Amino acid sequence: MKGFRCEGCGWISTVKRVVCPRCGGKKFQEVYLSGECRLLTFTRLYAVSEGVKDMPLTLGVVEFDNGARVLGQITSEKVSVGMKLRLAWGLLRVVDGKKIYGFKFKPEN
Ligand SMILES: [Zn+2]
Repeated sequence: MKGFRCEGCGWISTVKRVVCPRCGGKKFQEVYLSGECRLLTFTRLYAVSEGVKDMPLTLGVVEFDNGARVLGQITSEKVSVGMKLRLAWGLLRVVDGKKIYGFKFKPEN
């Protein structure tokens, strides 16, 4: 799976953007995100955005072998720092009937 890394701040987007929402940078580099990664940190949200069905919502930052770090939803009940995860793509939420997709990570095996 491919991502787009901002050359200004390192933020990785799932879709190609014109301007980085974090730093306003306009240069992006394609990065290849291999299937396996490791969880660096996570948080559980009990107050979630409109249209989110998973409660609580677990968000985590994962790191791939090439050093790329990505924020995404963790789809597991049991979550611990350092656990191995696998990249997936899935539905994040529905807003006004519009489906929003993005990075999701699920446990290995
Ligand atoms: Zn940026």
